[in-house]
Amino acid sequence: MTKEDILDALRGVKYPPYSRDIVSFGMVKYVKAGDGRAEVRIFTGGAEDSAKKVLEDASRMLSEKFPGAEFDVKLLSEDPSKKVSVRAESVPEGLAGVKFTVAVASGKGGVGKSTVAVNLARAFARRFSAGGAARVGLMDCDIHGPSATVLLGKKVFPTVNGNQKIVPPETDGIKAISMGMLVDDSQPLLWRGPMVTGAIKQFAGEVEWGGLDAMVLDLPPGTGDAVLSAVQTVPISGVAIVTTPNELAAITAARGAAAFEKSGVKILGVVENMAYMPMPDGSKEYIFGEGFADGAAEKLGVEVIARIPIDKSLHTASVSEQSRKIFDELAGKILPF
Ligand code: ADP
Ligand code: MG
Repeated sequence: MTKEDILDALRGVKYPPYSRDIVSFGMVKYVKAGDGRAEVRIFTGGAEDSAKKVLEDASRMLSEKFPGAEFDVKLLSEDPSKKVSVRAESVPEGLAGVKFTVAVASGKGGVGKSTVAVNLARAFARRFSAGGAARVGLMDCDIHGPSATVLLGKKVFPTVNGNQKIVPPETDGIKAISMGMLVDDSQPLLWRGPMVTGAIKQFAGEVEWGGLDAMVLDLPPGTGDAVLSAVQTVPISGVAIVTTPNELAAITAARGAAAFEKSGVKILGVVENMAYMPMPDGSKEYIFGEGFADGAAEKLGVEVIARIPIDKSLHTASVSEQSRKIFDELAGKILPF
C-alpha cells in the first residue's frame, strides 16, 4: 500500500455538493503510507457538514479498498500551506522538494541550539524516514561548537555527483550538510560574515536535497548578517527559539525572536533547554530557576513548546527514551501535518 494507492482510493471521495473529488481539489494535505497502516490528513476549508461527510467517506473508502489495514484519517482545522510563512522570495533549486523547514535559533550561543536542532531532526526522522529512504534534512549553518554531523555520531562528508551537485551524507535517516564539512579540522578558520552567507547560498542552491518531508536549519546564534541572509535564502516555515532557564538568555532570545517576526517569519514557540535535572526518584530539580522561558514566550505571544531536561545522552547516538519522547512531542507540535 503506497501513497499513490491511497490517493487513488481517495479519488473516489467527492467533496459535497460537488462532483469533483477531494484529491483533485487539493484537500488531501498529507499521506504517510506504511506497512498495513497509513496516516491521512485532509483540509477542506469548507462547511463543517461537508468536511464531516468527507472524513466519513474517506475512512470508509480506505477500509473498503484495503481490508485489514489500519487508518488514521483526520481533518485539519487549518490549511498547513497557509500556516507557513515564507520569507525567501524564491525557492532555491536544491530546496524545491522540501515540504517544511523549521529554523532553530537562539539569542546567544551555548544554550543548546545545535543539540535541539539535531534531536528535532532525529524526531522527524523517526516519523518520516523509519525503515526507508531519508526524508529529513539538516542544514547546519552554526559555525560555533560541535557541528551537527559530529553530534549525529560520526564525521561524514558530502560527495559530488555527475551534475556537479553536492550530495549530502546520510546518517540515521537524516541528510546533513554542515559548515564543518567544508573545512579541514586541522585548519583554524575565522569565519567571516560573507563566507557564512556564501556557504548558506551553496547549501540551498547546490545541494541535492531531493524530496524531504522536513528540514531543520541550525542557525548561527543572534540575528547577525548570516542569520538574515539565511532567512532571505531559505524558505522558512517557522522558527523555534531556544533558551536556557536563565534571565539573560531569555531576554536575548526574546529580543532576537522579535527580529524574526519583523522579517515575517512565523515564531513557532520557545524551547526551554536544560530546563531541569531529572532526579532518580522521578522528580524534577529546577536547578537554574523557573519561569524565564515562560516570560520570553509571553513577550512574544507564543507558548513554551518543549522543556528539555539536562541529559547527557542527547549528544550521543542513543538518546534516552524520556528525551526521545519529549522531542517526538515537539516534532508533533511544530509540524503542520
Ligand atoms: P549552541 O548550539 O547553542 O551553541 P550546543 O548545542 O552546542 O549549543 O550546546 C552547548 C553545550 O551544552 C554542548 O556541550 C552540549 O552537549 C551541552 N548541552 C546542550 N543541551 C544539553 C542538555 N539538554 N543536556 C545536557 N547537555 C546539553
Ligand atoms: Mg551550535
